[in-house]
Amino acid sequence: MRKIALGLGALLVLAAPVAADSAKLVKSAKPQQLALFQERSIFTSGLRGTHTIALTFDDGPNLHTGEVLDALREMNVRATFFVVGRQARRYPEMLSRITREGHLLANHSANHARLSTRYAANPDMLIDEIREVHDQIAPRMAQGDKFYFRAPYGYWKSAHAGILNADPELKRYVGPIYWDVGDDISMSRDGYVMSAADWECWRIKWSAKTCAKGYLRDIRRKDGGVVLMHSIQINSAALVRQVVPALIEEGYRFVRLDQVPQYRQYERPKDWPSGVADARDKPPVRLSAVRTDITSDEIK
Ligand SMILES: [Zn+2]
Repeated sequence: MRKIALGLGALLVLAAPVAADSAKLVKSAKPQQLALFQERSIFTSGLRGTHTIALTFDDGPNLHTGEVLDALREMNVRATFFVVGRQARRYPEMLSRITREGHLLANHSANHARLSTRYAANPDMLIDEIREVHDQIAPRMAQGDKFYFRAPYGYWKSAHAGILNADPELKRYVGPIYWDVGDDISMSRDGYVMSAADWECWRIKWSAKTCAKGYLRDIRRKDGGVVLMHSIQINSAALVRQVVPALIEEGYRFVRLDQVPQYRQYERPKDWPSGVADARDKPPVRLSAVRTDITSDEIK
C-alpha cells in the first residue's frame, strides 16, 4: 500500500503549482501555444477517477507490434505508441500502419538509453536521441497531431529540458510523460495480484491472464489513467486481449495522449516557481515483497 500513499502524496504536491499555472494562463493576454519539455517527468495525467484510459505501448515497433495492432483494431480502440528509433528503422512499415489505424506515434528516444547527466554534458548527443525519432515519426503523423516524449526507464534530468527547448522543432514536445498503471507487480498479503507491469510478468513467467488481473485491479482502483504496456513481446497482444474487453464491458473510455486535457497546461512556456517542482521527481517505490516462486495458476 506504500505505492498508493506515494501516489496521493505526489498529487498533493502537484496541486499547488498546477493551480498557480492555470491562474497565470487566465491573466496572460496572449498565451503562446508552445509545448515544451518539462524539467520533471509529468507524473499526473488527470485521468484517475475519470473512467478514462490512455493505453501507451513502448519500445516498438517489432514483429509483435502488428499483433497488438490487430487486437486494438478488432476492439476499435485507439492508443499511443512510444517508438524507439533503432526499432522504427527496422520496421518503417509498422510506423505507417500505426498512424493509418488511428493511433498516435510518440517519441521514446533513438536508442533507449538512460538519459543521464552524460547527456546534459553533451547536448548534441541528447538532441540526436530525440531528433532521430522525430524525423521518422513527424512525416507520418497527421496535420495538427501533437508530439509527446517518454524517457526510457522514466529516467530524466532537469537540465535536459532547457537543452531540448532551445531546439526550435523539439520544443514542440510535451514530456516526459509518465504513467499511472503498469509500474510494477504488487500483491496483497492474502495473495491477490493488485498491480502488474508486463515486462515483470514475462520475466517471472506469468501468463497474460494472470498479468491482466494486476492491470485490471490497478485500473479499477484508480478508475482510469495512463497505462504502460509494451508492444514487443510474444505475450503483448494476449495481454491486450485480456485487459481491454473487460474495460470496454465496464464502460471505460479510451483516448490517445493528445486527448488528455491535463497535458494542455504544458502547451506554453514553462515558468514553474523554482523549488516547488523538485518534489515531483521521486521515482515510484518498488514493492519487493512479491513472491516469484508461485505459478500463474496459484495467483488470485
Ligand atoms: Zn522503454
